[in-house]
Amino acid sequence: MTELKVKEIKTLRYKRPVVEKGYANQTLYVNLSDAEISTKPVSEKMKEIFVGGKGFDLWLLWNAVKGTTKWNDPENAICIACGPLGGTPVYPGSGKSIVTSISATTGSVMDSNVGGYFGPYLKFSGFDALEIQGKTNTPTIVFIDGISQQIQILEVTGLPDEAHEISEILTNHFGQGKPRNISVVSTGPGAKHSLIGCLNFSWYDAKRSRTRLKQAGRGGLGTVFADKGLKAIVTRCDTVTVAMNNPADEAALREVAKLHSQEIVEQDPKQNQMSSVGTAHLVTIMNDYDLLPTNNFRYGQHTDAPKMGMEVYRGLFDKGYDGCWVGCTLACAHGIKDFVPSTGPYKGGKVFVDGPEYETIAGCGSNIGVFDPLHVVEMNFYCDTYGLDSISVGTSIAFAMECFEMGLINETHTGGMNLSFGNGQAALELVHQMARGNGFGIIVGQGVRRMKHIFSTEYGANRAVMEDIGMEAKGLEFSEYMPKESLAQQGGYGLALKGPQHDEAWLIFLDMVHNFMPTFEQKAEALHWFPMFRTWFGLCGLCKLPWNDVVPADNKQTKEPAKVMQHVGWYTRYFNAVTGRKLDPEDLITMSERVYNFQKIFNLKMGFGRREHDAIPYRAMGPVTVEEYESRQERYDGQLKDIYQIDIDGKKTVDKVKILRKLREQRYEELKDAVYKRRGWTKDGIPTLETARKLGIDFPEVIDVLKANGVV
Ligand code: SF4
Repeated sequence: MTELKVKEIKTLRYKRPVVEKGYANQTLYVNLSDAEISTKPVSEKMKEIFVGGKGFDLWLLWNAVKGTTKWNDPENAICIACGPLGGTPVYPGSGKSIVTSISATTGSVMDSNVGGYFGPYLKFSGFDALEIQGKTNTPTIVFIDGISQQIQILEVTGLPDEAHEISEILTNHFGQGKPRNISVVSTGPGAKHSLIGCLNFSWYDAKRSRTRLKQAGRGGLGTVFADKGLKAIVTRCDTVTVAMNNPADEAALREVAKLHSQEIVEQDPKQNQMSSVGTAHLVTIMNDYDLLPTNNFRYGQHTDAPKMGMEVYRGLFDKGYDGCWVGCTLACAHGIKDFVPSTGPYKGGKVFVDGPEYETIAGCGSNIGVFDPLHVVEMNFYCDTYGLDSISVGTSIAFAMECFEMGLINETHTGGMNLSFGNGQAALELVHQMARGNGFGIIVGQGVRRMKHIFSTEYGANRAVMEDIGMEAKGLEFSEYMPKESLAQQGGYGLALKGPQHDEAWLIFLDMVHNFMPTFEQKAEALHWFPMFRTWFGLCGLCKLPWNDVVPADNKQTKEPAKVMQHVGWYTRYFNAVTGRKLDPEDLITMSERVYNFQKIFNLKMGFGRREHDAIPYRAMGPVTVEEYESRQERYDGQLKDIYQIDIDGKKTVDKVKILRKLREQRYEELKDAVYKRRGWTKDGIPTLETARKLGIDFPEVIDVLKANGVV
């Protein structure tokens, strides 16, 4: 191995501020083009309007870019923030970082929420957020050393490209014998050669004496990172304590944290068992309810799905505590020790694999027609260490496979590969090609939207068919839930600001498994409330899983079980205890509404964000083909007859497909109308001036964007 060498380019010494009520009250600015390092103050107004975390990121990014800025322009910024509650070691799920940038995948605003220690370490080093602009031609590390109180831009040589090696090496290099003090952000070689690169955030697993990784997966943030010439960002921070956040009322914080922690310890083993199987429990549930994407979202179920269900992964996961944040009692971040890859540069060696989580199992497994758990583990390992988003990888390969099976592309395009569903070896080879930057993998790594363009313009493939089956919206690949039968989840995907990622409105479980929102009005209302409350976690630096993945024993008997109001109340107490503010649960929603609407207007600034951008492919709404319809004929026939009162006697399947399509597309448009109205937006999906004023985000530049989009 080449010797690691670092050369100082620039150093800024600073005095680390004391964190007050969850805030360091300044942000850090780094420009790689001219090696500038400086700090910016955080005003009370900024805290009041943007709260922290994703809110701070968006404000910094808004000021950094113009409406014409492209993802690979030097002025595009990568912003990473924690949040006022982030870094609390006694409260479950309190260590998240939120990353924003102009997306390489969509060209608009992207945000991604990720575990690991980076965000809290950044704050405890003295910065509520980090903003990196500019580009460099030399491999560069930004080192934020909160212990010696200096920021450095360093040129680095001798560092490998793969994320798990980068994190391990830099943790040892900068840790000075205390690896737990280090968190590293990095990507990998796949990010350089694709538009779907992810970021890896590290945390040190003291029990296993190794660095572990969590991913900011969506939207090509790793690609932006690699394009800037960044090899890594490293933070160093002392042992974290509750006192470091300097909460307004530490006793009140400890009291509510104890309640939530204890409930998780008692209830998780009786509910989803996430502390032993993570999100793998979802595989069986999704399959049982016909919601597990299979063969590019054609179907929601497969007889082989139990082969990669939670019991299989329970057996594979290394036993022991797996919290990606200090003291998280849900501890769902499992991994597999001594896995031996069968392909690629690590073939035959032993590696540690962080994951898989449900999304990777569904995306790199069932959705490409593969039901071998070890194949999923290998895809997981290589996606992470190559810096590739396993969701976009899975959905993109699934699309390419369906195009291959439909004859829209063939072996002359794929470099001789048979891309039939179920060919796991071909899927792995595509991932290696994305990392090497060769073969058909380069095209698949552009994502579904660009594949549609390339296949139609260069290979003569039928564009209309690909528009129906290409599972992307706003340019982002769908995450791994089958929304055909869930109108609420269709809205959850289609109306999500960044594109179809479930973190904004994960309604499928509540809609299809619990049937908590049976009416159209309830679905529309849920599409207001849920994105707002889920946004709040990103503002504060928190993980959403402890909110509703484990619920109180009597939750079902409460008035609004879907909202888990007991926990909303606890989160309000938590926020008040740290910040000293006196808010009630409804105020949390208003806080989010401000930032949510600001992000919507930011999309408009970048040329997106209108009704037309909330379109989803028909595959997300209903059966595209006769084969799909006939696979669930009883269901669809029943709906046409009983719900829509259509006389289908004597009608051919092809006609019934058309009738159902018209009805479902119409229903989706009606849902958009209802949700826009509830959110205070125009029929074109744009916040009104009144909404902007009511929320206090009517800054002159915001009003200019609204006016430019016809809102007067
Ligand atoms: S619940 Fe899981 S993902 Fe969330 S902070 Fe805890 S370990 Fe990390």
